[in-house]
Amino acid sequence: MADPKYLSGQRQVALSVVVPCYNEIDGIGELYRRVSASCQAQAGQSYEIVLVNDGSTDGTRDAIFNLAARDSHIVGIDLARNYGHQIALSAGLEFCCGRRILILDADLQDPPELLGGLMAKMDEGFDVVYGQRQMREGEGWFKLATASIFYRLLRRMVDVDIAADTGDFRLMSRRALDHLNAMPERYRFIRGMVSWIGLKQVAFPYQRQRRFAGTTHYPLRKMILLAVDAMTSFSVAPLRFASHLGMAFGVLGLLTLGHTLYSWLMGSVLPGWTSLAAIVLILGSVQLLVLGIFGEYLGRMYMETKRRPLYIVNEVISGEVADEQDVG
Ligand code: UDP
Ligand code: MG
Repeated sequence: MADPKYLSGQRQVALSVVVPCYNEIDGIGELYRRVSASCQAQAGQSYEIVLVNDGSTDGTRDAIFNLAARDSHIVGIDLARNYGHQIALSAGLEFCCGRRILILDADLQDPPELLGGLMAKMDEGFDVVYGQRQMREGEGWFKLATASIFYRLLRRMVDVDIAADTGDFRLMSRRALDHLNAMPERYRFIRGMVSWIGLKQVAFPYQRQRRFAGTTHYPLRKMILLAVDAMTSFSVAPLRFASHLGMAFGVLGLLTLGHTLYSWLMGSVLPGWTSLAAIVLILGSVQLLVLGIFGEYLGRMYMETKRRPLYIVNEVISGEVADEQDVG
């Protein structure tokens, strides 16, 4: 859980920018320059940039802490290991103290210069202004196609209105963030959780850029995991699908039985083992699939019931907090 110093509300700034960072050493200097410039243009000196090091192995941690030592606007949070993007982001969101909060990726795919536009939109009275990608540069057709299918499928499955083609890039009001922070769940699909809150939300169309440096940390395996998290946290439709599948195969079984009886009455010899073996195999695999879907939900319930903290913080460094720690 977050440091009580932050939660007690002693600190407050107009704007927080929260950035999860995992092996982003090559881009972090540029990130710092561009985000700082945007923040100063929008919020004067009343801002903080919360950089969460998610167990990087490449010196990102030291880079963050050097920045924090130099510039009191930087809050460096070092997590105890790699917890993954959504948890690292959750950590930053719990620590930040801004009245408005911008969520940003470290790779500069979402341009920090759009902050002005997002702020202007929020001034119109919105609680959440979420970036909606019009075009994505530098991402292969496979990623685009799978992302597109995923969002459309998800939107059909869940009751919550999760906008298509959104990432976590968004500006939130403090009251929206407080609601988000109050959600204790472990499997976090943050863009969906923000949609779930409701309040006044609006899309902000923009063009997604190429990564500034490095490569994506979302290979297919992690994309699938995120998709499964999203589906299971927002919908029990897969469970319903399991029972529908059961019914469909029940009907198929009855038809097959009818056909067999009919052939027997007509005196024709039944064709041999091949069809029988096929049916047994298909039924077996369907049963395992259904068990797997059950297991997915059961496993998540098990993990949730442990009530472990979402993450462990190794160290926090910011101008103010560092001073207090020196005294102790
Ligand atoms: N990230 C993280 N922990 C991880 C993987 C990624 O904090 O285990 C951060 C990463 O540094 C970046 C953001 O999450 O700031 C999004 O990751 P990435 O750019 O690799 O994803 P993509 O944009 O390709 O979906
Ligand atoms: Mg990226």
